[in-house]
Amino acid sequence: MRLCLVNPRNSLVSLTRKSCWRKYRVWKPLGLLAVAGLTPSEWEISIIDENLDVPDYEAMPRPDLVGITAFTSQANRAYKLAGEFRKRGVPVVMGGIHASMCLDEARRHADSVVTGEAESVWAQVLEDARQGRLQPVYAGQHASMADIPPARHDLLTGGYAFGSIQTTRGCPLDCGFCSVSAFNGYRYRQRPIAKVVEEFRTIREKLVLIVDDNLIGISTKHLARAKDLFRAMIRAKLRKKWICQATINMGDDEELLTLAAKAGCKGVFIGFESPTAEGLAEVGKKFNLLKHRDLRASVRRIQRHGLIVLGSFIMGLDSDHRGIGERTAEAADHYGVDILNALFLTPLPGTRLWDQMKAQGRIAADAFPGDWDYFTLSFPVARYKHLSWTHILQEMDTCNRRFYTVAHICRRLWNSLRQRRAPLFLLVSNLSFRSNIRKDRDLYKKLDVLRGPALIG
Ligand code: SF4
Repeated sequence: MRLCLVNPRNSLVSLTRKSCWRKYRVWKPLGLLAVAGLTPSEWEISIIDENLDVPDYEAMPRPDLVGITAFTSQANRAYKLAGEFRKRGVPVVMGGIHASMCLDEARRHADSVVTGEAESVWAQVLEDARQGRLQPVYAGQHASMADIPPARHDLLTGGYAFGSIQTTRGCPLDCGFCSVSAFNGYRYRQRPIAKVVEEFRTIREKLVLIVDDNLIGISTKHLARAKDLFRAMIRAKLRKKWICQATINMGDDEELLTLAAKAGCKGVFIGFESPTAEGLAEVGKKFNLLKHRDLRASVRRIQRHGLIVLGSFIMGLDSDHRGIGERTAEAADHYGVDILNALFLTPLPGTRLWDQMKAQGRIAADAFPGDWDYFTLSFPVARYKHLSWTHILQEMDTCNRRFYTVAHICRRLWNSLRQRRAPLFLLVSNLSFRSNIRKDRDLYKKLDVLRGPALIG
């Protein structure tokens, strides 16, 4: 039996990513590698990542089952692909966060939909597919982390700078724009450390992205587990360099930082979200709002351990006015962030923000499924309270141009050289973001389709 697993591309994002930096910006579809890890050996598995290449599907051996995953921005392409396979009589199962949050929509395009985490239902899906009696919906439960088999890292090699691995699921925090808790739950679940280390050894790439939404967690118990994980990684001499996502509390614990650095940590994505207290309150970013929180000092503490800090900010909050672009770049600069990733506020299905904006009629790009293409976080898809479409694009442009001037990049590079903080990674990332500014601007001009009465201003 042949199983073909597909990660669909998004043509709008692909346009901006055709560059020599692409392999640093294309992440492995770990979800598909994990599903492959759940699949028994009698199935012959092929994995296609359309972000690298779109194959000639007609020329491929006909699969017995196709599994397609999709984030919201990939949903439109996922449905088109599903339609093509189904025309050829190949049954299609869809899964992933978008299909889970928009079940009725996904059901119209696939023979079957897996909602939630696949571990509890995948064996049944395969058995039913083998017998030609796929059910319309399989409701996956939150998996027991001890039972998750390792992902099949051997199935997708080449074309990526980073391998990837997951060590925890779920997030106890509740940021209004984020769908992690709706998909993986509020309970912070951790994989057994020995299994994580064992899987790490099967990753070929020297660089690894730990995909956990928050690697260190928030409680004393969570932090203790993170420290144990780092100790085990040090003992195992993995010789990997890795980056992760965490909350700003990572900067509060010197022992944690020392162990992370020794275990190979080179950088951490941190959501700063907004330069204003009103903005932080609006998105519900409690950690950044703590009374005595000094974000600049927290960033410095992290950097002193040789780590790069990648700061993420959101633009288009109800509390944002003209000037937010300048203000965001200034804040990122003041905090000492090494790489700035500024994104448009995007109401993703499954979030409180979606419910709120939908109820208020503020989803501007709403011709679905076609408009899902714009839900990449790099297009303004909503009606923003104080910023028209033209204005928010100007603010984003100002923010990026202000942060990624040659002089600023040189200063950050000098600092990272002085402090021995992955200068090459910092330079490549900064130049990659800088090269995207012009491409994004050209793209927005081409996409005037989003202008007009649908949007304010
Ligand atoms: S944005 Fe990060 S911290 Fe907030 S709920 Fe999502 S995963 Fe948790």
